Amino acid sequence: MAVILGKWAKRPITISVKPNCLTVSIEGGGGEPAVLSYDYEGRLWTALLDGITYRRGLDGKMVAKWQQADRARDRRWLSPDEARQQIEAPARAQVADLYAAIQSGDAQIGAPLPEQGHHGFRRAIAFDAARSEQDAARYRQVYLPVGILPPDQYFAVVLQAAEGCSFNTCTFCTFYQGRPFRIKPPDDFRAHARAVRDFLGEGLSLRRTIFLGDANALVIPMPRLLPLVEIVHEVYDVERLGGIYAFLDGFSGQKKTADDYAALRALGLKTVYIGMESGSADLLRFLKKPGQPADVVEAVRAIKAGGVAVGVIVLLGAGGHQYAAQHVRDTVAAINAMGLDMDDLIYFSELIVSEGMAYARDAYQAGLQPLTPQERIAQGEAVECGLRFSQAGGMPHISRYDIREFVY
Ligand code: SF4
Repeated sequence: MAVILGKWAKRPITISVKPNCLTVSIEGGGGEPAVLSYDYEGRLWTALLDGITYRRGLDGKMVAKWQQADRARDRRWLSPDEARQQIEAPARAQVADLYAAIQSGDAQIGAPLPEQGHHGFRRAIAFDAARSEQDAARYRQVYLPVGILPPDQYFAVVLQAAEGCSFNTCTFCTFYQGRPFRIKPPDDFRAHARAVRDFLGEGLSLRRTIFLGDANALVIPMPRLLPLVEIVHEVYDVERLGGIYAFLDGFSGQKKTADDYAALRALGLKTVYIGMESGSADLLRFLKKPGQPADVVEAVRAIKAGGVAVGVIVLLGAGGHQYAAQHVRDTVAAINAMGLDMDDLIYFSELIVSEGMAYARDAYQAGLQPLTPQERIAQGEAVECGLRFSQAGGMPHISRYDIREFVY
């Protein structure tokens, strides 16, 4: 990696030429610096402008995030057109001007730009509005929209080994509505894995893991799953990318054993993410989430016995005040029975109720009183307070998960 300091029109600049991206930082006239990062395909993937952070998804949509005066975070999604016109085009113009100034000598830099840096600038400048639009159109050919990922997997290479969710019953989840569950036959999956690789192009270097989509790839029975995982190895350097990750959701049907997970681990499976939502059987029933808390605990124990880590997701605010006490009590009990350790993750995800969601209707009919945002935070803290882990295994990493900020 090369970090080059310099000056352009009396403004300090920093150019970071990393193996996975090019980042340009330009100090403003007294304001915050503009920071622009591009993958080597030329996509602007993140920008910091006037204190607002922007993240562009591969589908061309962009989320703007900022902190309010009371330190609460807020966000707004930009359509692909807005993103192109308001953020990508001016950013690209600034990068083009800077590159021209470096070449003419109008910008002074402390060391020559390495060839990878020239390449990064050229790719970013060539990624104009038409190219950005084509890229987003290509995304839509290669993928069914990627519904959600765990927050530590936003930089994964998503491969849709299966499409949709095999349950699709949970009242609080609209990610896969209208998408029939389908396991890809090996030839289809091979073509998909290659198409994703070609689509990402040089942007592949920005990606850190492989995520097997969609909601539930690990319900695929072993005789069908193993050939699909082998195809992943055929097309990608799994080791170099940091291994394979996937969701396991809903716990009825054929269960995998510790030996199955050990076999998947040998093929690179690192972490399985489980949307447990709650340890309360009553609340899961109300949410129409398939399976029992005891099934989740059993699945986690099998995964860990196979040498694979888990990420357990808990839904804060689900069931409102009526379910709050048992939600906290039974979730603590379920997590404490899982034998989690420092390799594992626990995510607290706030229930986000949108219009037309079945949960909103059920909650209204049941007369549920919702938790305020502060009460949801307090609920997470109450669960955390009750968790106990063995000294030998250490503590899992615990953090928040805001599905409204998901971008792939
Ligand atoms: S099992 Fe998971 S993906 Fe499927 S409907 Fe429920 S929450 Fe959504």
